[in-house]
Amino acid sequence: MKKTVKGVICAVMLLITVILSACSGMKPETASFEAMDTLMSLTVYGGEACSQLKSEINKLGSLFDATDEDSEIYRINRDKSAEISSDTDRLIGKALALCGRLDGYFDITVYPAVLEWGFTTGKYDIPDKAALKKLAEKIDYSRVEHSEGHVTVPDGTMLDLGAVAKGYAAERCLEILRDSKATAAVLNLGGTIALYGEKPDKTPFKVGIADPENPAGYFGYLSCGEGVISTSGGYERYFERDGKRYIHILDPKTAEPADNGILSVTVISDDGTAADALSTALFVMGLNKALDHYKNGFKSDGRDFIILTDSGELYVTEGIYDDFTLAEGYDYKVIKV
Ligand code: AMP
Ligand code: MG
Repeated sequence: MKKTVKGVICAVMLLITVILSACSGMKPETASFEAMDTLMSLTVYGGEACSQLKSEINKLGSLFDATDEDSEIYRINRDKSAEISSDTDRLIGKALALCGRLDGYFDITVYPAVLEWGFTTGKYDIPDKAALKKLAEKIDYSRVEHSEGHVTVPDGTMLDLGAVAKGYAAERCLEILRDSKATAAVLNLGGTIALYGEKPDKTPFKVGIADPENPAGYFGYLSCGEGVISTSGGYERYFERDGKRYIHILDPKTAEPADNGILSVTVISDDGTAADALSTALFVMGLNKALDHYKNGFKSDGRDFIILTDSGELYVTEGIYDDFTLAEGYDYKVIKV
C-alpha cells in the first residue's frame, strides 16, 4: 500500500514537472543515439520533435550509406542505373551543383578511391602511383547522369555522399523543426551542428569548435543564431604508416589524401548541404585557394569559415570574427579575412 501511494506521488510529481517544463519551455527534450557512423545528440526546447528527427536521420542514413547493401547509393553503384527516392534525388541534385562550383576539389564520385585506401573497411592500403593514376581517372562527377528520380553512372564510376549526408540531414531536421511546435533546438550530428530558433534565455547559441589534436576538447567557441556549422578534419578518420598520417579526405585530382597544412575547416551557412560540402572542399583546396574562393562568391552567399593550419594560424572570416572566442590555453594567431 505504502509503495503504491509513493508510486502515485512520484507519478504526479513527474507529471507536474513535465507540465511545468512544457509550459515554461525550460526543460528541453533530449535524445542520444548512433547514426551515420557517429554519435548524435539532439536537444529540443518548447516542443517534442526528437523522435521524428531521429527517425528522419536514421532514414537518411539508410538511404545514403554506400557500404549498406540495402541503401540507394549502394544500388546505384552496383546496378549503374537506378530509380531514387525524393531525398536521394534532392541531395544528388544539390551535391552535383556544388561539385560544379568547387573547381574539382569536391567530387561525389570519389568512392573508388575511398574503397581502395580502405577507409570504409579499416583495412588500410597505400595504392601505388599507377593505381592512384587509374583511381583519379575514375573520379569525375560530370559523368553522373541525373534526371528527376533517376541516376545513371558509367562503369567504374561510384557515388559517395559521405561529405554531404550529415549536412543534408541537418537541413531536413531544420525543416521538420520549422513545422513543429519547438522554439529552439541544438542538434549535434557528429561534426555537423544544426541550430534552430531562439534559446529560452534569449542568449545566442555557443558552439565549441573541436581541437583536431584533442577532438574531445574545443579550441574556441562561436556565438551564433539559426543555421548549420560543419567541420571537416583529418582527425575524424585516418591511419598512420611509417610516421605519416593518411586521412579520409581525398584530393579528387590525385586520389590521394589532402595534405596541405590544414588541420580543420569549419563552415557556417544557412544551407546544411552547402556547409558540409564546403568544409570538405575548402579542406582539400588549401588555404590560398580557400581565401580566393571566399572573395569570389562564398562571401556574397553569406557563408563564413574558420580554418586552422598546422602552424597554429586561425583564419576567421569577417562575418563571424567578432562572434569567435579562443578557448583558454590556446595561443593560435587569429587572423581576420
Ligand atoms: P567530411 O567529413 O564531410 O569532410 O566528408 C569526408 C567524407 O567524404 C570521406 O570520408 C569520403 O567518404 C568523402 N570524401 C573524401 N574526399 C572527398 C572529396 N574531395 N569530395 C567529396 N567527398 C569526399
Ligand atoms: Mg563535408
